[in-house]
Order: sequence, then structure tokens, then C-alpha cells
Amino acid sequence: MINNYTDILSFDKKHLWHPYTSMTNPLPVYCVESASGVHINLASGESLIDGMSSWWSVIHGYNHPTLNNAVVEQTKKMAHVMFGGLTHKPAVDLAQRLVNLTPAGLDKVFLADSGSVSVEVAIKMAYQFWQAKGQHKKTRLLTVKNGYHGDTFAAMSVCDPVNGMHHMFENVMQQHLFAPAPQTRFEQDFDESELTSLTALFEQHHQSMAALIIEPIVQGAGGMRIYHKDYLKACRALCDKYDVLLICDEIATGFGRTGKMFACQWADITPDIMCLGKALTGGYMTLAATITTQQVADTISESEAGCFMHGPTFMGNPLACAVANASLSLFEQDDYLSKIAAIESQLKNNILPLKSHPRVADTRVLGAIGVVETHQPVNMANIQAHFVSQGVWIRPFGKLIYIMPPYVATSADLNALTSAIASALDQDNCFSAS
Ligand SMILES: *Cc1c(COP(=O)(O)O)cnc(C)c1O
Repeated sequence: MINNYTDILSFDKKHLWHPYTSMTNPLPVYCVESASGVHINLASGESLIDGMSSWWSVIHGYNHPTLNNAVVEQTKKMAHVMFGGLTHKPAVDLAQRLVNLTPAGLDKVFLADSGSVSVEVAIKMAYQFWQAKGQHKKTRLLTVKNGYHGDTFAAMSVCDPVNGMHHMFENVMQQHLFAPAPQTRFEQDFDESELTSLTALFEQHHQSMAALIIEPIVQGAGGMRIYHKDYLKACRALCDKYDVLLICDEIATGFGRTGKMFACQWADITPDIMCLGKALTGGYMTLAATITTQQVADTISESEAGCFMHGPTFMGNPLACAVANASLSLFEQDDYLSKIAAIESQLKNNILPLKSHPRVADTRVLGAIGVVETHQPVNMANIQAHFVSQGVWIRPFGKLIYIMPPYVATSADLNALTSAIASALDQDNCFSAS
């Protein structure tokens, strides 16, 4: 047993992979002992205000009594049972909540184990739907550049072709269609001309297209870009016109992050298939959902296959469903959307003016998301150390310094986060030389 945190770090360095990190020459990691509310407490003694919600997921903060209790109580009943031939109240309650919360028409729920898997499930649903209709040529996907949909193979094949992992897996990945990334910003007047190439792709390829997959309003890990609602409306209209299914990947944007419960509500559209994940369990454990319409579900079920071909071992895990139910009931009890609106106005006040800093190329804010895009890429090890010295946890990538704090962050917490970003901009060693 290793107890001392320096030994933990040295074992970690030798034996544990971290996300997108070299095993031979890893960047430093920090050892966490506990976390509570908005604070991540390091074994080395520092307490950091969390600006990342552990990758968009910990919306109510850490160690939340209601969520803790949901896990404990469910553990006493059963931690897990298989979902083949069995069901349980936590899964049924969750499905009921999701059907009620999501736009009308989305009412058939598939519980998956992670965001990437829910994207695989969505894509398989689209394929099986067209197969059931005898449209065997409809096997390609259309998406937009700068997207991110996960790390498994089908998900990866619709990530941005340049900043994603395409170059390494080209020969073993299906080749899909890419439209330019949406251009008009959220707050600008919509420029109709940006629909020309998207429309042309539909006209040319609709007979071979199964679905358009897109992150609604906010493109997350593929560039933290925030685009106009009319672009999303046009996606819906083009899918209808050309008989293509629309998959909205709300894994990052769902549950209030953009200021609406779901980002597709900015455009008043309903996708044919919606993926949810990340914040679904309040960040307690991995769980995702793929929700579709009766039409898609019935078409697949009445096909020769007779069923949808997917069924993970931990499908509908009761612990995960129980904590997701508790998370959604917190959402119902408190007026979260007005909390998020208050976070948005403070982030706008604090972050948008950073645009005048010589190191900054752009700033943008929507809901509880704040982004500072710099001219030069960050020096990861140095900027991370700087943030820790300022008492915050912010993890940038490339030229993007961004925060998506837990919704329970106070005004003082938000000021600490944005001041830390402002101070990092003045540190030469936090950026790579041009
Ligand atoms: C994080 C993310 C995924 C992948 O989810 P995992 O749980 O990491 O597999 C897919 N799509 C979007 C938009 C995401 O942000």
C-alpha cells in the first residue's frame, strides 16, 4: 500500500495512462485527496476552486449530500443487476424524467455507459433505421468541422478531421462528409450565405446519407465555438427536406450549460436522436442516454432484425440511475436556470473585456461557459502550475483557456477563476514562444 502522496505520484508516473498523455514523458499531474462543493483539495495541501466541473459533469459541486445519499441508499438495495430481462425503479424513474425534460417527441430511451457509447448507439440507430426502410445506401454521416463526439471509432470518425485523430486512423475509419464549421457567432446577425456549402452537400449526397450529427450551439472539445441558432434551424430543415436523420450530441451542452436545459431549445428544434451524458449523474459516475422518437424506434423494431442491436453489460446501472435521478431532482427544486443566467452575466463582465489584452485573439461567453482564445498555444505545465498557485483548477488546451464552473459557484469563486485567467495572460512562461 502506498500512502505518501509523493509515492502515489511516482507510481502513477510509471504505470498509469492519463488522457492524451505520453507514458514515457508525461506532464505533471496533481494528486487529489478530496473534493467538496467547488473545491478540489490536493494531497499537497492546496484547495483549488474548480473551473472545469471535471469536464462539464460536476454541476452541483463535489461531495453533495443529496447525491451522496442517493448512492448510499441505492447501494443498500442493489448496486447492479443486468438489464436483459430485468428492470428496476431507478431506470424507469430516470427514463420518465428524460422523456418529460427533452423536447416533445423524444420518448424512447437507451441507457448507455458513456458519452462515446451513446454516440455509437445513435449512429447504429440511424443505420438500422434506413436498413429497416430498405434504403441500404444510406450509410454515410454528415457533420461539421471542429466537432467532437468522443474517442471510440464511429465517434472519432465524425470528430474534426484536422484537430481530431483522423490522420492516425485514416485507414481503419469510415470516411464521412464534412461541412465547414458554423461561422456566424451566437450574438451576430445570421449570414445565410454560410448555408451554401452545407446545402450543396445535402443536394449531392442525401441518397447516401443516414444522418447529420452535430453539437447544438456550442462545439466543445473541437474548439469551444459558439454558433448561431439559425444554423441549427437550417440543419433541421435540410434534414427534413432531404430525408436525413438529425442527431444532436448534447453530451456537453445538456442540463443547462448553455443557459437552456438543452441547447437545441435555442433553435426550437427536436432532433430525431439526442445523446446525453457528462452532467447526467451530476458528475458522480459514468452514464449516458440516447433518446429517440417513436418513429425511429418502431421502424427499427418492426424490421427484419426485430430489435436494436446493442446491449452493454452495465446498461441501466441502478447506482448511476439513482444518482442521475437525485441530480435531476436538485434541478427541479432549485431554479438552476436563473443561477446559470447570473453566472453568464458575471462571466460576460469579467471575461469579454480580456479581448483587449495583446495576447488574446477572442473571448466568448454563453451560459456557464467562458472562453479566452489566445494567439499562442499555452505552455501546459507552466500555466497549470500558475493556476494552482492562484488557487484555481483550470485546464486549457492549445490556444483555449476556458471555464465551465459548477452551477453552485459563488460570485467570489467566479472572480477568483477569471482573475487567475487574467493574471496568466501576463505570464510569458505560460505560453509557448511564437
Ligand atoms: C465528452 C463528449 C463526448 C464523449 O463522452 P465520453 O463520456 O467522454 O465518452 C461526446 N460528445 C461530446 C459533445 C462530448 O463533449
